[in-house]
Amino acid sequence: MDNKDNNKYVRLKRRIYLVIFPLLFITNATYWLFSPYVDRFMGSVLPFLCLFFAIVWVLIYYNRLMRTCEIISLGVFGIYHLFRVYSLTGQLEEGIINVYVLWSPIYFVYIFMVLERKKALGYSLFIILITVAMGIIHFDNPRANDTLIQFYISTILYTLILFYFQRIVSAYIESDILRKNAYYDSLTDIGNRRSVDTWLENEINRCHECNSVFSIIYFDIDHFKKINDEYGHDVGDHVLKEFSSLVKSYIRSSDFFGRWGGEEFIISTNQSLAEATQFAERLRGIIENHSFRYVDHVTASFGIACFQPTDVSKTLIKRADQALYSAKNNGRNMVKAF
Ligand code: GH3
Ligand code: MG
Ligand code: MG
Repeated sequence: MDNKDNNKYVRLKRRIYLVIFPLLFITNATYWLFSPYVDRFMGSVLPFLCLFFAIVWVLIYYNRLMRTCEIISLGVFGIYHLFRVYSLTGQLEEGIINVYVLWSPIYFVYIFMVLERKKALGYSLFIILITVAMGIIHFDNPRANDTLIQFYISTILYTLILFYFQRIVSAYIESDILRKNAYYDSLTDIGNRRSVDTWLENEINRCHECNSVFSIIYFDIDHFKKINDEYGHDVGDHVLKEFSSLVKSYIRSSDFFGRWGGEEFIISTNQSLAEATQFAERLRGIIENHSFRYVDHVTASFGIACFQPTDVSKTLIKRADQALYSAKNNGRNMVKAF
């Protein structure tokens, strides 16, 4: 995962914790205050646990020490889990199955949320091993024996399922990222040349089927080479990003916007030639009047072409390119339609 995806993952985990920790607080506080089955040990542990949940929630809410909170919680939950399993194994001889068996799988889910997959597996198996050691003394009791074996086997199964499930999820995420990289431009985060091609093919097919209309706006930043030469390549990159997000904020949701290459872009819109020309003229003005972060003044030239029934995407782009060429030749910072 690259940094951007990693941040997304951390943000998602934060959102989950912001829901889970209050729930844990409420569940444990209610158990402590109202349950008649709280023994003396649990009676002294539960208030501290509730305080801990509250502190962790506040820290995560204010975006402080999230990783530390996760690791400390893992330790605290681990100790709590071991204590609960210890008392569970003790009660089995009396034929009582403690309700904690219902909660224990959640601890393993948490381990896999906090730790990397292989570490999570190792840590889970280590915890299971300790609980097996706790149960060994009860194995000669047939009543406890069967329940304990089922408890251990099911916990091992949960752990293995989580291990493979996480593999499946990361495979999905990887293929999603690969798919995204295949169709999106990594600098500007808009469609790349391949997605422009795909989009145009689809639009042309749609127009053949429904007799509808669409136009393309082919545009190119003026004297972009000068920006690179004067301010450096990094500023050039920044201008491309800022330019793209500016244009993106002005197109309609039904329009398509992609980077054709370098400092050349294409918008496909289901508007007539006249409407698309008007829209491009507005866009031209917006770009001209926008104050870019590092470079004050940026302009662009536009070429418009409208789909004709005999068009394939190549001929359509060619006409828009000729119109753009004419805009460049006539002084730039203008819109020409073919
Ligand atoms: P014109 O007004 O005729 O379009 O002139 P121009 O300088 O914009 O066009 P030209 O084709 O001469 O130069 C385009 C420049 O864009 C050259 C190339 O180095 C630069 N460029 C292409 N892709 C990128 C990029 O991803 N980042 C940066 N910083 N520069 C790029
Ligand atoms: Mg240019
Ligand atoms: Mg160019």
